[in-house]
Amino acid sequence: MVQVLNYIKSSISELLFPKVCEICGLSLSKTQNFICSECAQNRFERAVTTKSDKINLPESVIGRFALWQFDKGGYLQDLLHKLKYHRLTGVGEDLGSIVGSVSKREKILEAFSTDKTRILPVPLHDKKRKIRGFNQAFFIAKGFSKHTGYEILKRGVVERVKNTKTQTGFSLTKRRENIADAFNVVLKEEVQGMDIIIVDDVFTTGATAFELVTELERAEVGKIFIVTVAQA
Ligand SMILES: [Zn+2]
Repeated sequence: MVQVLNYIKSSISELLFPKVCEICGLSLSKTQNFICSECAQNRFERAVTTKSDKINLPESVIGRFALWQFDKGGYLQDLLHKLKYHRLTGVGEDLGSIVGSVSKREKILEAFSTDKTRILPVPLHDKKRKIRGFNQAFFIAKGFSKHTGYEILKRGVVERVKNTKTQTGFSLTKRRENIADAFNVVLKEEVQGMDIIIVDDVFTTGATAFELVTELERAEVGKIFIVTVAQA
């Protein structure tokens, strides 16, 4: 009976408030949450993160992958903004799922076995998480984990101990100063010898991810990979 009532309730709400794609506004099918398959596949420009990548990666980082090129003032920026500031955590999960399915299809993470690898969403400082209510990188990681099978590290294993100012508009040197010693591995035994996939929303200069890498290296992790939805 309860199930029937729930079904009726959800059918009515779908009728009154049909689910539409957060990007293009077209209606979604039952299996789609926030982003339609057309937008997931063809809306944005793929980022180039392979050989032409001019950013030098730290030694333990064997590669990085960003799905899309960040579009200043465009739909993708709007979407990431909604995730961060309008609490649309489902958008984060959808984005993570898309990144996960593409990286699986393109065999980007072949060197990472499911039992020896953990996903680390870039930690947010406690103060910031309490204000925002959630860590957007965690929801991206959640969708990503569903598609790739890698487990997410528990919250608190690695913490952000420095509540940094926003990095927007900072030069690379300024970003590095700002982010220095921002992270701390609290439970070394959870990561020592493990391979780590760092997950975040946008890769810009890499200052944040690389600072996290430095801290992970101190905790003697294995190889590292950096995965983001977009690259600026
Ligand atoms: Zn769409």
